[in-house]
Amino acid sequence: MSDTAAKREPSAQREVSMEKIVSLAKRRGFVFQSSEIYGGQSGAWDYGPMGVELKNRIARVWWKEMTQLHDDIVGLDAAILMHPRTWEASGHVENFTDPLVDCKKCKQRFRADMIDEAKLAKKECPECGGELTDTRKFNLMFKTNIGPVDDGGGMIYLRPETAQGIYVNYKNIVQSNRMKIPFGIAQIGKAFRNEIVTKNFIFRTCEFEQMDMQYFVKPGDDDKFFAYWREQRWNYFGKLGVKMDKLRWHQHGPGELAHYAKDAYDIEYEFPMGWKELEGVHNRSNYDLNRHQEFSGKDLQYIDQDNGNERYIPFIIETSAGLTRQLLMVLCDAYDEEKVADKGTEDDWRTVMRFHPNVAPVTVAVLPLMKKDGLAELAQGIRQGLKEEYSTDYDQAGAIGRRYRRQDEIGTPFCVTIDYQTKEDGTVTLRFRDSMEQVRVHKDELEATLRKSIKEYKRA
Ligand code: ATP
Repeated sequence: MSDTAAKREPSAQREVSMEKIVSLAKRRGFVFQSSEIYGGQSGAWDYGPMGVELKNRIARVWWKEMTQLHDDIVGLDAAILMHPRTWEASGHVENFTDPLVDCKKCKQRFRADMIDEAKLAKKECPECGGELTDTRKFNLMFKTNIGPVDDGGGMIYLRPETAQGIYVNYKNIVQSNRMKIPFGIAQIGKAFRNEIVTKNFIFRTCEFEQMDMQYFVKPGDDDKFFAYWREQRWNYFGKLGVKMDKLRWHQHGPGELAHYAKDAYDIEYEFPMGWKELEGVHNRSNYDLNRHQEFSGKDLQYIDQDNGNERYIPFIIETSAGLTRQLLMVLCDAYDEEKVADKGTEDDWRTVMRFHPNVAPVTVAVLPLMKKDGLAELAQGIRQGLKEEYSTDYDQAGAIGRRYRRQDEIGTPFCVTIDYQTKEDGTVTLRFRDSMEQVRVHKDELEATLRKSIKEYKRA
């Protein structure tokens, strides 16, 4: 199997499909079906060794972007279980519903707003043409019970969004951390929605993770900060290293606006199944804090001590992203198949995940050419030296070409190969995932070379 840049043929692209992504995700330990040995649990997925690393790294990029790079944003980790009144105040008990229809013939269930209007008007099933039931409202919140007796008195919801945990803590944070408006609160955490239709892999699931930032501003300043956050959120995706021409804005029309929103934009990504929402940037006005003030009876006004103790309920600009959905985007965006030889076999092609090195599950793989003659020990020593700084993998089994292919499939940006020359002069082969270029570097310069390559990384 060829793996040198010199022998490489001009690259040719093959189509990226969701089937290919799902298959690679399972084969390489990114994402598994939940409870697969019992036939699987719909709406839930498990993140394997590569998936959890990828998810944690995406979360870290987002967290850094929000808290480290913005002086006026602080973090929070609120509980999933919240007082049930929260969801009355937020409007979720009343409004967090999807329109549901069933097909009487094939028994499939659909969201009415996702069915072609003409078919819905005729009550015709989009799958089998059978008759549809009337549309009924279905609340997406999961209910459970707290306490030993299940008599309805301990009914509690699993939070359907992380945002409310931020609103109910806003005063605590103003007081404990002396925050002055404008300021933001960032949170990453699980949310649960009893989605009617969960398809497209991890795109829409019943259990998922959100990365949420709520920015509190003075009424009247909201339009300015709404524009500012749209720009910030757009630029973030450049840092994540995804293809920017696969992103676009969608502004909510009057009929689409949620009950709390003054104005709303979504960032959409072109997934293999089409353009879909990635995250929302919303001007939520002062709806949320007004409602929590009303329902809790607590004064939630901000007191502006720099302006003669002026009191007001802040407006909120929210940037609400799905972590697991962003992971799906990163998987789809990174996936590439490239022709690297012309022997007429499947081996002519390599599958390569072109992750940005900042999010790649493994940054460096260390590969001794042979196990024997002290090469394995030498390689282990080199790996040891890199561990503190980078996530590493070690593989000594099989042909080197096969080992490179495996690293390409998990998206490892750098491979370091130790061979007999290493024993003589201390140099190793550094192989770059994207170009497959190989250079010899002295092992003492490896760390500096890696650091520079990561800093200067640009996707081909
Ligand atoms: P939709 O209209 O598609 O149901 P939404 O507009 O209600 O979604 P938001 O409440 O704005 O979504 O949630 C913010 C973000 O959380 C979304 O942009 C998405 O990335 C993520 N998200 C929402 N619901 C799910 C879900 N069921 N599975 C995975 N991610 C989700």
